[in-house]
This record gives sequence, structure tokens and C-alpha cells, in this order.
Amino acid sequence: MSRNTSVASGNSAIWMDGAFMDIHGAHVDVLTHGLHYATSVFEGIRVYDSMPFMCIEHFVRLHHSASVMGMHIQYSAEQLVDITKQLIAMNNIVSGYVRPVVWLGSETMLISGEGCTHHIAVAVWNAFEGRSSNGEADDFSIGISKWTKGPHSSSLHSTKSASIYAISRLVKNEALSYNLDDCLMLDSDGYITECSTSNFFAIIDGVLHTPAPGCFLNGITRQTIIMLAKKLGIDVIEKSMTLQDLQNGVEGAFVTGTAVEIKPASQIVLDDKKLILDKNHHIITALMQEFYYFVQKRS
Ligand code: PMP
Repeated sequence: MSRNTSVASGNSAIWMDGAFMDIHGAHVDVLTHGLHYATSVFEGIRVYDSMPFMCIEHFVRLHHSASVMGMHIQYSAEQLVDITKQLIAMNNIVSGYVRPVVWLGSETMLISGEGCTHHIAVAVWNAFEGRSSNGEADDFSIGISKWTKGPHSSSLHSTKSASIYAISRLVKNEALSYNLDDCLMLDSDGYITECSTSNFFAIIDGVLHTPAPGCFLNGITRQTIIMLAKKLGIDVIEKSMTLQDLQNGVEGAFVTGTAVEIKPASQIVLDDKKLILDKNHHIITALMQEFYYFVQKRS
């Protein structure tokens, strides 16, 4: 029985279906529809200095994900921000992570989910103490996954639906099996999409490039970085990118995401060669500085 090994068990208060409660009293049925058919959507929000970062944006995305999945959330994004702030205070979180999740209940095993109750919970826990302790190596190496992204019409790319994370997990574990930190997924036409749970940027011939979103999650951090680059007068080219584009002149690269923030890569490992990257490229350094300044201002 693993109740005490929950990632959030050190923080006792969570919020579920309208009530604050102790995490040890918050249970779901083993026949929950969300567990069997991935009828579940979630968010990941970072807490800096006891404040949830970009919180409203994350809850707007949660509403979007739920709506694409035909699931109902009875609480507005604003109400959920308020609940999150209360939970952070109740659990004394200074640096941490917030996990809202919405799922279908156990009233039916029919694939339609018709008649299922719609549930929501928000949990918080301590994480990321010190910037470099987010679990990622300082020497961040990226490979190329054998898994490809399906076309726009075949998946729920714009959502944080649990179904997407089945592949994300396989991609991350594939990278670890190669002794790398993450892998890029290509789409069915061979264009670069994203890593397991982060978006990708590359500096090619001195210019910042990033794949144009279509069949991957257009992350909140990605959008923030593009906004900050424009503010700094750094051009950003959003276009379909191939591995050949990288081979022709990549100087630096980084990934972005709520957990990873902005992480420079030291190398991209292709089948037949390694592309060695400048982790301290001036564009990356400028963007990191601006990002952390922005985080400080918003927290
Ligand atoms: N892609 C995927 C598949 C992700 O899970 C994440 C993390 N949420 C990202 C990209 C980055 O998104 P964000 O910056 O909103 O965290």
C-alpha cells in the first residue's frame, strides 16, 4: 500500500470536487473511467516565491483541454487560481509545483463515458528548490526518438490530455536508455516537433528558429520566450524544421517548459554524428536572463 509515497504526501492539504481535504482522505475508485481510457486532462504550474506562475494561462488551457475532451469544469479559471493560492498558503509552499487534474468517474465502463461524473482536484507540493535542481542534467543532451508525432487530425496536440503522455513517457525513457536526457520527436513528414515534455528552439546561422506549432503543444513557456525575444529585438523564425537544417548550421539549441524552464542543450545526437552546441550562445544567455527577470516580476 503506497499511500505515503505519493509525490505530494508531504503536503497534506489538497482540494477535490469543491472541498479542501487531507491528501490521505482523497481517493478515486479503481474503476474510474479516466484511469482506463485516459479521459483525464491536467496542468502543471510552477510556484516561485509562493506565487503560481502564469496561473490564469494554465487554467485557461485546462478549460480548453477539458472542452476538447467533452469534459465539464464547474469552476472558472479565476476561481481555480484563487483555490490554488489558498492551497499554496495552506501547505507553506515557497518553491513548488501545482497539479490540477480533471477526470471522468466510475459510473460506467462504456467508452462513451455517458453518465459519468466529472471530477476535479488540485494538488501542490515542494519542488525545484534551487534552479538547477529540476532533475535535468547541466550537460543536456538530445537524441532523436523512434516515435513520431501523428498528424494534426489524429491527436489532441493542443491539449494536456493524459493520452498524449503515454508517448511522452516512452520518449523520455528511450532517451535515458541511450544515456541522453531527452529526445526530439519528428512528425510523419520528418519535421521536428518537440521533446517529451518541452518545446524546442535552435539558433541556426545566428538566427533563432523554432518549429511552427501544428502537431505539438504550443507551450506557455514557448510563447513567453517568443514574446521576450521580440521584446529584446531578437528575430524568431517559426517554420517547419528538419534535421538537415540543424546539420547545416546549428550553433545552439534549448528546450522550454514549465518544469525545465529554459534549458540549453550541449549536444544533439543524430544517427551518424553529434552536433556540439554552444550552451552559452549570446542569444540563449540573453533569453535566460530576460526569462528569469520576467519570472521575478510576475511572482
Ligand atoms: N510539450 C509537452 C508535451 C509538454 O508536456 C509540455 C509541458 N507542459 C510542453 C510542451 C511545454 O509546455 P509549457 O511551457 O506550457 O509547460
